[in-house]
Amino acid sequence: RAKREGKGQFRIFTPSMDDSVKLRAELEDDLRRAIQAGDQMQVYYQTEMAPDGNTVLGLEALLRWQHPVRGAIFPDQFIPLAEETGLITPLSEFVLQNACRMASRWPDIFIAVNLSAVQFRTAGLAERFIDIAACANCDPHRIELEITESVLVEKDDVARSILEKLRAAGFRIALDDFGTGYSSLSYLRQFKVDKIKIDRSFVRNLGHDTEASAIVASVVTLGHAMGLTVTAEGVETRDQQRLLSAAGCNELQGYYFSTPMPEAEMNALLETRWERPDFAA
Ligand code: C2E
Ligand code: MG
Ligand code: MG
Ligand code: MG
Repeated sequence: RAKREGKGQFRIFTPSMDDSVKLRAELEDDLRRAIQAGDQMQVYYQTEMAPDGNTVLGLEALLRWQHPVRGAIFPDQFIPLAEETGLITPLSEFVLQNACRMASRWPDIFIAVNLSAVQFRTAGLAERFIDIAACANCDPHRIELEITESVLVEKDDVARSILEKLRAAGFRIALDDFGTGYSSLSYLRQFKVDKIKIDRSFVRNLGHDTEASAIVASVVTLGHAMGLTVTAEGVETRDQQRLLSAAGCNELQGYYFSTPMPEAEMNALLETRWERPDFAA
């Protein structure tokens, strides 16, 4: 506990700060152990659908941490920690390995994997990803890497050269949370990407808010003019599905179609409930 300070002196360590520093250190240890142990980290999958809502085009891999004491921990609570400590690298490789396995089990759909901007500051990411896919016998074309606009804004050449190597190896690149970052059209011209994912904040306001509809319409127009696939995130209602598919979105993702779920559950659903595209036809 912080000592009583003299009158008028600033107390640097309030109990709550003390606790949060301890909690952080504890979580960091736990995360390190979880990665080593292997069984606490799970990859969940959520479908990405054709606008008709019947056909699964792909799955997004979303990380979950089943903490032995604290229970389920969502990415928002441990990804930032993993980014600050470098643990994002082993975590990300774990997700990619899972995704490659899912890709070979379901040959007609893509699997999307999220990457953090900090991963684009260290050379070696592209080589590791190419290796992991090769070891898993997975064609990189089957894997979509979701990055945020902040990666494109990185000043130095490291990020750019990593992206180029990944694309050259066949990985697809999607811009996640599109519209929330430093969206600058000039970045979209400089860096070739394959897909943009309209952030769910725009989808949420569809139907109530004419601005949201205008933004969605112009992102679709822009994306298509540049030859990109346009996906909408956070689709929760039938109305949103209707509006987004009328606006020309190519793919829809959201709780309306499926929540993220463990691999085994997703496999069961893919076997029974949904169609998949028939590329042979
Ligand atoms: P994201 O990549 O934008 O993923 C979509 C998030 O929206 C997921 O949250 C998903 O569960 C949620 N979502 C999907 N459909 C709906 C919907 O209809 N309504 C609402 N309200 N939410 C929906 P989640 O799984 O908590 O992940 C949060 C973020 O954490 C992800 O956002 C992604 O940026 C990051 N993340 C997850 N897994 C990884 C990973 O393996 N590596 C890295 N670097 N980041 C990850
Ligand atoms: Mg994503
Ligand atoms: Mg993301
Ligand atoms: Mg997103």
